[in-house]
Amino acid sequence: MPAYGPDSMIERDFIGYGEHMPDPKWPGGARIAVNFNLNVEGGGEATLANGDPVSEGMLNDIGVDTQVGRRVPLVESLFEYGSRRGAWRILDVFGRFDVKMSVLGVARGLEHNPALARAFVQRGHEMVSHGYRWVDYGEVEEEVEREHLAKAVDILETLTGSRPLGWMTGRPGHNTRRLVMEEGGFLYDRDSLSDELPYWVEGPYGPHLVIPYSYETNDNRFNENSGFSTADHFFQYMRDAFDTLYQEGEAGSPKLLSIGLHDRLIGRPGRIQGLVRLLEHMKKHEGVWFCRGIDIAQHWHANFKRPEQTLAQDLSRSMTPALPDRRPRWRCSTFRHKNSIT
Ligand SMILES: [Zn+2]
Repeated sequence: MPAYGPDSMIERDFIGYGEHMPDPKWPGGARIAVNFNLNVEGGGEATLANGDPVSEGMLNDIGVDTQVGRRVPLVESLFEYGSRRGAWRILDVFGRFDVKMSVLGVARGLEHNPALARAFVQRGHEMVSHGYRWVDYGEVEEEVEREHLAKAVDILETLTGSRPLGWMTGRPGHNTRRLVMEEGGFLYDRDSLSDELPYWVEGPYGPHLVIPYSYETNDNRFNENSGFSTADHFFQYMRDAFDTLYQEGEAGSPKLLSIGLHDRLIGRPGRIQGLVRLLEHMKKHEGVWFCRGIDIAQHWHANFKRPEQTLAQDLSRSMTPALPDRRPRWRCSTFRHKNSIT
């Protein structure tokens, strides 16, 4: 593949935008962009049923650790709960508030529930690839990760009718972003927790957009079976994050608030009220841009393409006569032409 500048999953960057963030010029002069992300992972988690040596110990809310060499039916059933009940309840709430979200879909999971995959896109939500499996790709061989990446794209395309344009591994390894860029069809990825506005990194086909995600403004805090953590805890924490960023936006520095949800966590009857209260709170404010990852990506591709990056992209193309087979189906220039947002 063509050479490009420092690999952003190997080289570290502690500076970013520095003291003064750029004005993201959110559509309509919004003071904050709010992006909800619903993780749908059940069926893609670790289980001997998927050929794994262990059961799932991550983000199951009954406090059962990884078990080696055996299936754990109760853990498996709570992952089924997310797909069977939680996701539908969450879809109803977002429908009621008329807010569109990004669905971070694990392909191996959604294969088990095609009707749910179709419902997401039919209701205007974006399907982002959350990988083929919900596992730690830091432990997966590069060649296998490359195969999984292609498989995830194909499965989501079959389920929803169009390929995903956003990527989020969740537990990426050092190869992940390079493989995502190599695939060539993604407008952005979410495998970073490093900032509050999107940023460009160098890629083999020119600049690649990273839209930071959050494991902090995230219902993963319902993970542990550590006594009650209530809907109000969720509401208060997310409301405070929203209020802080909203005030910064009013003061002239708008940001992105990315909120992570899981069908099997916030989708429970005792927790969903936290989400409802949060949406009620947000809806009382003027100048809130509720957006999907793809909306942010389109906005950034259209408005924040740095001239020197375009030049670098052109140079890298002209110096690279033979691109790999999996060449980009989306290029920034093509994208801008077809999808310029006005
Ligand atoms: Zn996830």
